[in-house]
Amino acid sequence: MSAPGDDEVTVTRVQPYQARKAYRCPGCQQEIPAGTGHVVAVPVAAADADLRRHWHHGCWEHRARRRPGRR
Ligand SMILES: [Zn+2]
Repeated sequence: MSAPGDDEVTVTRVQPYQARKAYRCPGCQQEIPAGTGHVVAVPVAAADADLRRHWHHGCWEHRARRRPGRR
């Protein structure tokens, strides 16, 4: 059995005024400039908030569409 919730993430939208740093989007490997609204995904199973990932809105939605149902 694999760990439950291994692929689950908590998704938070970051508003432009909240984005005070630049981040690298794992979807397209491009930088998200500071001051740009984006999406933060944190694995539910992760105890460490450092595992959060910052995505462009478009990249995140594209990822979700491609996501397999269950594994
Ligand atoms: Zn991106």
